[in-house]
Amino acid sequence: MRKFFSKPLTTKRLAVTAGAAAMLAALSAPMPAAAQQDFISIGTGGVTGVYYAAGGAICRLVNKDRSEHGLRCSVESTGGSVFNVNTIKAGELDLGVVQSDVGYNAYNGEGQFEESGEFKKLRSVFSLHPEPFTVVTRKEANIKTFDDLKGKRFNVGNPGSGTRASMEQLLGARGDGLDFFSLASELRPDEHGAALCDGKIDGFFYGVGHPSANIQDPTTTCGAKLVPLTGDAVDSLVDKYPYYAKVDIPGGLYANNDEDIPTYGVLATFVSSEDTPDEVVYQVVKAVFDNFEDFKKLHPAFAHLNKEEMVTNGLSAPLHPGAEKYFKENGLM
Ligand code: GLU
Repeated sequence: MRKFFSKPLTTKRLAVTAGAAAMLAALSAPMPAAAQQDFISIGTGGVTGVYYAAGGAICRLVNKDRSEHGLRCSVESTGGSVFNVNTIKAGELDLGVVQSDVGYNAYNGEGQFEESGEFKKLRSVFSLHPEPFTVVTRKEANIKTFDDLKGKRFNVGNPGSGTRASMEQLLGARGDGLDFFSLASELRPDEHGAALCDGKIDGFFYGVGHPSANIQDPTTTCGAKLVPLTGDAVDSLVDKYPYYAKVDIPGGLYANNDEDIPTYGVLATFVSSEDTPDEVVYQVVKAVFDNFEDFKKLHPAFAHLNKEEMVTNGLSAPLHPGAEKYFKENGLM
């Protein structure tokens, strides 16, 4: 159950963190002034997502030992995975959190990166939590399957998000386009829950770790319902692409949603560029792995992380030498 994307892939199933949904505060690192620093920035996602919390947790641990290594880590809220890859490529972010499918496409110049071309300097640092694709709908809309969303008002994700890229891949596999919906809105994740509860949209799509405050809000506030994502198109995507796997979102994780919800998903991964110095990546990895139990407590979606899986599973690009050095020194490879 815990072997996400390990090779060989026997079960093709992800497990989802079933931690307490209570401890969901986004974490940003305190940043007292200090002399002699190198600034590093981590690209994340919307402030109510898990990437922002992941970046905050990583920076908090890096900044704790600032006096030893001189790195000052800060988190940027961004549009998500595709934005993060492009901005790392442009040299404007040092590190970022990226869906494993988006990382794969970026490295190989496929999908949404076909025009911009392959990004061979992309480097994996480690993988993080599973991100099941999550369809959330208005209770009153009575939507039971993805097919029921035909002609509905649906939030497909903001441009630059991994969510949006994966939505387009799913629609393509179904033989549909954005015109499958009467309205394909492009709200950010910090806007889609309120839009749903206000009746402005009938559903939204989000590739995100669980439990997440972002999903907890609409399920609690207006009884929003999670909808399974299954069928031939999903089966063909999972068969075809190494980065996809089937996964259940456990029942009871969110209010008013007691049943397990079958869907499919990816892993969140932490990435960088070959141009980011080895020493920087080494120190960032060391901060997380030397303080691993603390790291896992910083968000409930991290509760089931394990080091061995993080250094092998879901990594779509070659390992960064700074990460590899730490893993070798610590017997992880
Ligand atoms: N997977 C999402 C994306 O790349 C972001 C999820 C999050 O912020 O936790 O669009």
